[in-house]
Amino acid sequence: FSFKNGMQVLPNKFEKSLGKSFLSSSEIKSITKNDTGYKVIYLKDNIQKGLLADTVVSTVPSYVLSNLIADINKETTNKLKEIFYPSVLVLYLGYKKNSVKRDLDGFGFLIPQKENKSFLGAIWNSTLFPNRTTNDDVCFTLFIGGALNKELSNKTKQHFIDKSIKEFSEIMNIQDEPSFISSKLWEKAIPQYNLDYSTQLKAIEEFEKENPGFFIGGNFRRGIALGDCFNSAEILCDQVKEYFNK
Ligand SMILES: Cc1cc2nc3c(=O)[nH]c(=O)nc-3n(C[C@H](O)[C@H](O)[C@H](O)COP(=O)(O)OP(=O)(O)OC[C@H]3O[C@@H](n4cnc5c(N)ncnc54)[C@H](O)[C@@H]3O)c2cc1C
Repeated sequence: FSFKNGMQVLPNKFEKSLGKSFLSSSEIKSITKNDTGYKVIYLKDNIQKGLLADTVVSTVPSYVLSNLIADINKETTNKLKEIFYPSVLVLYLGYKKNSVKRDLDGFGFLIPQKENKSFLGAIWNSTLFPNRTTNDDVCFTLFIGGALNKELSNKTKQHFIDKSIKEFSEIMNIQDEPSFISSKLWEKAIPQYNLDYSTQLKAIEEFEKENPGFFIGGNFRRGIALGDCFNSAEILCDQVKEYFNK
């Protein structure tokens, strides 16, 4: 999933539509409750500021939210901390088109665990999004790590990059070295809906009941894929509208 000019299009559009009320590059430090609503303390340009809000809609990751609401409910804080986010290393590779000796006639591939490869799968970016390269080049995104790979870290990432490039070249029938390599390690990438998830979900629901006007979204709640995140955002919008109409 992406936009023609990349995911940054979305926050840029929000900024344009919301005007002055959109605060970018601001880090929320804490959220506390008062008689009329909530007090949000945030850092912008290294200056600490505060604002009073009737409602709070949070879509920060659960491990961030858990710290922000520590003063409101310790139990929810602990439950949110339990949600496990494994690491994922994203590896971008570029090649000259004529280096790839197979048809790029799909979206990419996922690798079954029994194949015992160093990476999870690859997206053929330049096939999906033709404006990402010139006509003479192709590019790919490889995903490494995930819940079953406990070895991935900043220290070991080069080992996984080297092995993945070798295995990818074999699968794709590529003899040349990549003309472009870039990588990004997401240390806490994707929340896992593990066995204890129902108790974490219950804690979130109870927190919202006890704290009217506080709404919790984000990919640890109603699904990971971007489509699910957009659906979840619509649910949150309806809930906020209903809250103000009461
Ligand atoms: C490597 C990778 C590849 C993926 N590929 C796909 C894909 O191809 N297709 C797909 O459908 N899904 C994909 N996903 C899943 C999808 O991208 C995510 O589930 C989704 O983007 C999560 O959206 P979110 O708004 O919940 O969280 P995020 O996008 O993580 O947003 C959370 C935001 O909170 C901000 N934040 C954190 N702390 C604070 C703070 N203290 N104060 C203020 N702001 C804060 C962060 O800066 C961030 O902007 C991928 C995920 C990963 C990690």
